[in-house]
This record gives sequence, structure tokens and C-alpha cells, in this order.
Amino acid sequence: MIICPRCRGLLEVVMPTTINFSMEAARTRRFGVWRYRELLPLDDGITPVSLGEGGTPLISLTRSLNIVNKAINVYVKFEGSNPTGSFKDRGMTVGVTIAKNIGVEGIIVASTGNTAASAAAYAARAGLRCVVVLPKGGVARGKIAQALLYGAEIKEVDGVFDDALEEVFMEVVINGGRRLYPLNSYNPWRLEGQKTVAFEIVDELSFVPDTVIVPVGNAGNISAIWKGFKELYSYGLINKLPKMVGVQAAGAAPLAMTWKLGIDELYAIENPQTIASAIKIGKPVNWLKALRAVRESNGTFITVTDDEILAAMRALAVFEGIGVEPASATTFAGFKKLVEDNFIDRSEVVVLIATGHALKDPDTIVNKAIIRAEHYNLIVK
Ligand SMILES: *Cc1c(COP(=O)(O)O)cnc(C)c1O
Repeated sequence: MIICPRCRGLLEVVMPTTINFSMEAARTRRFGVWRYRELLPLDDGITPVSLGEGGTPLISLTRSLNIVNKAINVYVKFEGSNPTGSFKDRGMTVGVTIAKNIGVEGIIVASTGNTAASAAAYAARAGLRCVVVLPKGGVARGKIAQALLYGAEIKEVDGVFDDALEEVFMEVVINGGRRLYPLNSYNPWRLEGQKTVAFEIVDELSFVPDTVIVPVGNAGNISAIWKGFKELYSYGLINKLPKMVGVQAAGAAPLAMTWKLGIDELYAIENPQTIASAIKIGKPVNWLKALRAVRESNGTFITVTDDEILAAMRALAVFEGIGVEPASATTFAGFKKLVEDNFIDRSEVVVLIATGHALKDPDTIVNKAIIRAEHYNLIVK
């Protein structure tokens, strides 16, 4: 069900080659994931399990950039304003809708935290049980609090996210009769919901940005966003495609390493390390899709250090009023580097995907971000 029985690869949803959809006509609907219903693989008759996800603000950066005499145009897509505070809600509304309609007792996910929070909320909404498998000690406090609040059954596993994921995969294979639907990173339906970030960006800007920068953990989101842009292109709704840039933390950079080495096998990291717990992943299951997205789009993968992440988090907060969790701050840190390296031209329009809300990880803010960020040069020159 989750893996192709023939090639052992991940499944992918293939949309029809023609659809009946117009951005103009869709604008009468609420801004969010379900505005683009015809671009999602669900029958008309199905009622979505929804909490009003998507429709997040696209905020232009001002004070964090030295924009004197330079036409630099950067937006933050603030996914922290989703119902549970991360982009995971876009995928979960679709995934849980599917789960509800195939008649299971519940869902099960492995998570660095945000998937757990989101799954727990949407399962509650749907009246389904929710089991979340978490790396012990590796989940930010806000995310655990959410999973508890929404009534998920929490199972902790020694090790990192990759170990938790293995647990879920095994559990489903061994206890197939348990009727818990796995809504993991293996599951292609979640990516369908996540691709709507691309739709919203185009919908709001009315053009396609030059570069989209995404934090990469399990690599589902960057793959999903690229799929979204490609589908709009294939339907003739846009006439160019953006470059996709994936940012990883220096201590958890399997894809950036694979990219740098130019190899066709994943350079797995056994013991990933970073303050950005949402992307502390050594063996991203969607690595091949992500590699293709970056390659096809003429983008790149880069890394940023934990100190750069903390400084970027602080810069977005104090100069822009945008509070994000560490994983999301990698996009601003990465953007700064790419401008300095001339990979990004100052005439470009750039969108940073700020994946999760600052309140997800209060401990990092209190213990690290406020103190250490002062040492770094925060403004993009
Ligand atoms: C899940 C998550 C990511 C990583 O997304 P992937 O699809 O796993 O690459 C990044 N930031 C936040 C806040 C997340 O919750």
C-alpha cells in the first residue's frame, strides 16, 4: 500500500492531464487548501476533514534587508499561521480525509513533533484514534503539548526520527490487521495537500517567483511544492517555473551532501545533529523526489550552521515581527548566504517557506536564540 511492490519506491499521485479549474473562478472560495479542490485527487462527494488550513500570509521583508538602491524582493510564506502552527496541516487535512473515507479506526505517524501535533488535531476532528511515535527527548515542548492536548496516544522510541519512522513502518507491516492507517512521509496523499503552497503563492502574487527556499528534513515538502508548480505549468496556468532551493542544517545534511558529491545514492547521516529538531533527519525518505525537484528546477541544496539559524530566527523576529521555529529560520539564513554567493540575483523575487511557528519551540528561544544571536550580523547586505 505504501511502497510500490515492483520497484520498492514511494508511491506518487498522478493527476489527470486536463482539469476544469480557473484561478479567477476559484477566488470566490475561502483562501486555503480547499480553494484548489479540482487540483486535488479527491472525489467531489467527499467532505474534507478541515480546520481552515492554508491561506497563510505572504509577508514581504523590509527591515531585515539592506534595500537601499537595490530592488530585492523577498517574501515569507508564514506557515506558522496554520491551525496547529505548521504546514503539516495542509497534508493532514487531505490525509485524514482519506483515512476517514477508507474506514479505519485511527491513524499512526512517526514525527519530529509537528506531524504529531497536526495528526492529533485532525484525527480528533474526524473522530479517529491517533498514535504518534516520537524520538525520545527529541521533540520540542510546544509540539508535545499539542499532541497531548488533542488526545493522541504517544509512543516514544530511543534514537532519532529515522528510528521512530522505522517503528511505524514495521508496526503496520506486522500488525496489518490493526486498522491504523499510516500517515507517514511514505504516504503520497499528504504531499497532495502540501503542494497547495505553490498554488497559493501564484494565486496571491499573480506571477511565479524566481526562487523558492524550503527547509528540508524528510524532503516531502520541497517535493510537494515542486509538484504543485509543475502541475500548474502542465495545465497552462503558469508559464515559467521557479528554482527550488533546499536548506539543511549543517549537522543533518544528507541531501546537501548527496548534492555536493553529485552521487545518485543517498548519503545517509547516522547521527544527525542540529538545534532545528524538525529537520533533524539523517535518512529522508523522499530524498529521490527532492533531488529531482532541485535538479529539474536548476536549484541547489545548501547548509547553514546552528548559529546561523539562531541569528536568522532572531532577525526575522526583531526586524520583521515574524516568529518562526528554528527549522523555518534556515530559509532566511540560507537566503542570506545565497545572496552573498551571488546564486540569487538582487532583481529576483524570492519566497521563503517559514514552515512552523515560534511557539512550537519555546525552550530554544529562551535558552539560546536571545543570548547568542547578538553575535551575528543579522541584516542581508
Ligand atoms: C516537517 C517540517 C519540516 C521539514 O519538512 P519535510 O517535508 O520533512 O522536508 C521543516 N520545518 C518544519 C517546521 C516542519 O515541521
